[in-house]
Amino acid sequence: MNNRARRARAPAPVDLLAPVRAKFSRLEKLMKCTFTSVWDDGSEITTPATYDPKTGEVSAESSRSSPKGSLEREFITLQDEEEIEVCNACHTFVMKTVVGDLADLSFGESTECSDPNCESNSINYV
Ligand SMILES: [Zn+2]
Repeated sequence: MNNRARRARAPAPVDLLAPVRAKFSRLEKLMKCTFTSVWDDGSEITTPATYDPKTGEVSAESSRSSPKGSLEREFITLQDEEEIEVCNACHTFVMKTVVGDLADLSFGESTECSDPNCESNSINYV
């Protein structure tokens, strides 16, 4: 509330967090990425896509054609080369790492779909 008054009195401090903040504001926007489908016959299909880091939702710009064979994995590749697995149940949201109680009652890391309503999450947490 009094931020403006306080800032007027004191010299502006060096903003050490500026690069971090810049990174986060960038993350709030849709990120361009590529969506890659890997099939068990060895073929890979890559299409341009966008990724929403807030929700984990991925939108491929063109529909993915399905060759013969079955889907092995899907992932997106961000511009910094980071690969993120896409949920193999809904094919729309990325998987995220969560730490907590697992289905076998141990405590540890697991991955779950970013969409809380995805059917894959109800399989993991009965
Ligand atoms: Zn899912």
